[in-house]
Amino acid sequence: MHEMSLAEGILEVVEATARRERARRVKRVILEIGALAGVEIEALRFCFNAVTRTTLAEHAALDIITTAGRGWCLPCGLEVPLTALADACPHCGSFQVQPVAGMEMRVKEIDIE
Ligand SMILES: [Zn+2]
Repeated sequence: MHEMSLAEGILEVVEATARRERARRVKRVILEIGALAGVEIEALRFCFNAVTRTTLAEHAALDIITTAGRGWCLPCGLEVPLTALADACPHCGSFQVQPVAGMEMRVKEIDIE
């Protein structure tokens, strides 16, 4: 499952930070996920809970902020909002829309103690 490898990647970042800061535990992890990243949020939560078991991040709260998708419509020459990768331009209905934002996923903040 795609979300499992994402969750493992997140845990690596979180554990590296926790070790560097000599944390006793991780209280909260805040993730930013683009609307076009193709991440199933519920699946990711499930996988995160699974991979953090018996680690410093066990029971850490997982906050997910979804960032909007944006694309560049070639016919319009405009940046337009996108809710999915296969979306048409809301102005002209063209599918010649290049995604420009919303594909990324990153760990925004980690709360430790
Ligand atoms: Zn357009």
